[in-house]
Amino acid sequence: MIPYGRQDITQADIDAVTAVLGSDFLTQGPAVPRFEGAVAAVTRARHGIAMNSATSALHLACLALDLGKGDLLWTSPNTFLASANCARYCGADVDFVDIDPLTWNMCADALEEKLRHARKHGRLPKIVIPVHFGGQPTDQERIHRLSLEYGFRIIEDASHAIGGSRHGEPVGSCRWSDITILSFHPVKIITSGEGGMALTNDTMLADRMTQLRSHGMVRDPALMKSPSPGEWYYEQQELGFNYRMTDIHAALGTSQIDRLASYVEARNTLAERYNELLASVPVQRPLITCGNTSAFHLYVVRIAGDGVRNRVYRHMREAGIGVNVHYAPVHLQPYYRSLGFNPGMFPEAETYGQEALTLPLYPRLSTQEQDTVVRALKAAV
Ligand SMILES: *Cc1c(COP(=O)(O)O)cnc(C)c1O
Repeated sequence: MIPYGRQDITQADIDAVTAVLGSDFLTQGPAVPRFEGAVAAVTRARHGIAMNSATSALHLACLALDLGKGDLLWTSPNTFLASANCARYCGADVDFVDIDPLTWNMCADALEEKLRHARKHGRLPKIVIPVHFGGQPTDQERIHRLSLEYGFRIIEDASHAIGGSRHGEPVGSCRWSDITILSFHPVKIITSGEGGMALTNDTMLADRMTQLRSHGMVRDPALMKSPSPGEWYYEQQELGFNYRMTDIHAALGTSQIDRLASYVEARNTLAERYNELLASVPVQRPLITCGNTSAFHLYVVRIAGDGVRNRVYRHMREAGIGVNVHYAPVHLQPYYRSLGFNPGMFPEAETYGQEALTLPLYPRLSTQEQDTVVRALKAAV
């Protein structure tokens, strides 16, 4: 089976992890801050806070922005569950903004329209989470302008998008947002095994997420609420979690980030080759907006026609091609249906969800394997 995504592990990665195993620290040693520094450097963010997953990072980003019961968070229905679930962890309500039928990202026009309507009804969101779907940045300048006009905060879910850029601005720089979230799950652009990171330029938000990552604990006497009785003392100031990343994971991530640029280049070259090979096939190919560089986490095509995508999916799986679907819309999951969401609420995302098919794409996919994928797709269509 040719999988839809696959990690790339080199001898340098293995050596980096082995070195940690022989060192004094398996966790809370020097490897985590080194990884945070390396990611902050390539994304040009001031602070990076590493965690055990992007899901944890989304949760703490919401808490740091004071999301709570009675508040509202909006995200895209075309995403992984975690972009919406983070609001529910905080007791807040979720709503969605429909997608653009060409970029498959949250549609900025739909966002503006929904904000106008929400202001009239006194139900504006506290946080909006745009998702850089497949690695393509959203229209962040416009979403940022809307945030100033309507008074919401922005968390970018860039789980697909490290290594991408918009008008030369690297994804993760937080130029047009409060916090950006990255995932280092093995199918993503670079991996630490499991892992995630929150990036921000705001020192207060960085301190808050760092504290929440480790039980809400403070060890610096200068930050304590009461005088420290001794060097051994730590103070819990709020209810936090254990969302820490280990040094083992961080060492793998740091070793991988050296190859970020070559990974993104390889993904773009393969995506360009798919575009050429599929030019005469009746499928809709990804549209990358002018000024954007996609990290190309996913190469998705849309196949129109009632039930056609499902038929093509089965044919390709039987031919040994590990195609996948990203995503069935989040609002139609039984959990979200139980909160009142129904079919017809976000029609662009729903039609997209019936037509989307993710083709294999990862740096070590060979051109021969890619030809096999294209042959199987042509035969199935
Ligand atoms: C993978 C992913 C996540 C969750 O990442 P984890 O590191 O597995 O928690 C969140 N959002 C999106 C868009 C993702 O693709």
